[in-house]
Amino acid sequence: MFDVAIVGGGPAGASCAAFCAKAGLRTLVLEREIFPREKVCGDCLNPVCWPILRRLELAERVRSLRHGVLDRVEFIGLGGRTLAVDLPIGADAEIAIKRSLFDQIVLARARELGAVIQEASTVTSLNRPGVSGGHWTITTSSVEIFESHLLVAADGRNSTIARICGLLPRGAKERIALQTHLPLPVDFGNRVVLQFRPEGYSGQAPVGEGELNLCLVSVPAKMAALRSWAEAYFGLSPQHSWRTITPLTRKPIAAGQRSLFLVGDAARVVEPFTGEGIYYALASGELAADAIVSRCNGRNEAEVAAAYTEAHDKLYRGRLWINRLARAAVLSPRIASVCLEIAHLQPALLRFLTSKIVKPVSTSARMP
Ligand SMILES: Cc1cc2nc3c(=O)[nH]c(=O)nc-3n(C[C@H](O)[C@H](O)[C@H](O)COP(=O)(O)OP(=O)(O)OC[C@H]3O[C@@H](n4cnc5c(N)ncnc54)[C@H](O)[C@@H]3O)c2cc1C
Repeated sequence: MFDVAIVGGGPAGASCAAFCAKAGLRTLVLEREIFPREKVCGDCLNPVCWPILRRLELAERVRSLRHGVLDRVEFIGLGGRTLAVDLPIGADAEIAIKRSLFDQIVLARARELGAVIQEASTVTSLNRPGVSGGHWTITTSSVEIFESHLLVAADGRNSTIARICGLLPRGAKERIALQTHLPLPVDFGNRVVLQFRPEGYSGQAPVGEGELNLCLVSVPAKMAALRSWAEAYFGLSPQHSWRTITPLTRKPIAAGQRSLFLVGDAARVVEPFTGEGIYYALASGELAADAIVSRCNGRNEAEVAAAYTEAHDKLYRGRLWINRLARAAVLSPRIASVCLEIAHLQPALLRFLTSKIVKPVSTSARMP
């Protein structure tokens, strides 16, 4: 019997597991894949992640892994108009790091702190506690059964746990993303590029040692054209392999439920354009751990669920406007390009918006 079982070992699940294990809870992580594994992501680590990584005693370890330092973000409009904005430098710089490296080190930290990590374990069904108490029974595809008092859904935007519990919003017609790594073009520099195309947009970031992360975002009908552009632009063969994911937008789910806590993308997805998803994953994982510890210390179940939902909403509320603005802009590359023309005349505006996204925060979100 575990105090808490966490489904998904990405940054949200691993952060939650590390903080729970550090607090002395019997903690289990069930992860579908065997790490290290890549996933669809721009690989950019927003500077707001550093305070959480320091609390996990991971900042130096992350920095010692292969990564690219990003000193500016370059926006390229449809007509080729290019605008560059400087990013923070020094200890709070934005870096790009492959998810195979980053996710593995966070999960390894959870293991080091005492969490039991079970990889190659896909959760397929659940029995939830009754209204008068009890525990979760969790079954994996290899018919292993685990029992736990509390459950955390950290299994990403298409969360199986949310689906089984009847919480996952119905899928809408949505954009898709493709992602790959390729040899770094000569003279690419230390920049992250956000390039608008008539079909959608592309994100490009150097991840160190001569490799580039390339993401493409478009509606399904235009993705083939966007991919053809990328193949020609970067000299890739049509056989080049890409990872894919959808949806990019989805309604949020109330993060605190009865004995169930949703973290990271499972609770809420944000527009990838601003490169903040990993931060929200780490931060909500820490917040959920706070809630779980207080529940294990005897605080009332309904009160903990409501307090976690409130704190989770607050975590996003302060920064969500900028994400919504970015989403509104990128949904139409033409409008985004017009915005770039305006920003060219008012560069301070773009600098201000960028600083809002990458501004380091020193305090942690807390439960009320
Ligand atoms: C195109 C694109 C670009 C992005 N770029 C950036 C960026 O540059 N920077 C940034 O910060 N964010 C970016 N994001 C967002 C970021 O990738 C996510 O927000 C982040 O990965 C969320 O972490 P998570 O731990 O919640 O979920 P995930 O990272 O998705 O981890 C979920 C884990 O759960 C496991 N799992 C799933 N189902 C089960 C199951 N049934 N049983 C057991 N395990 C299961 C999966 O194998 C996975 O390891 C981008 C997203 C997209 C789509």
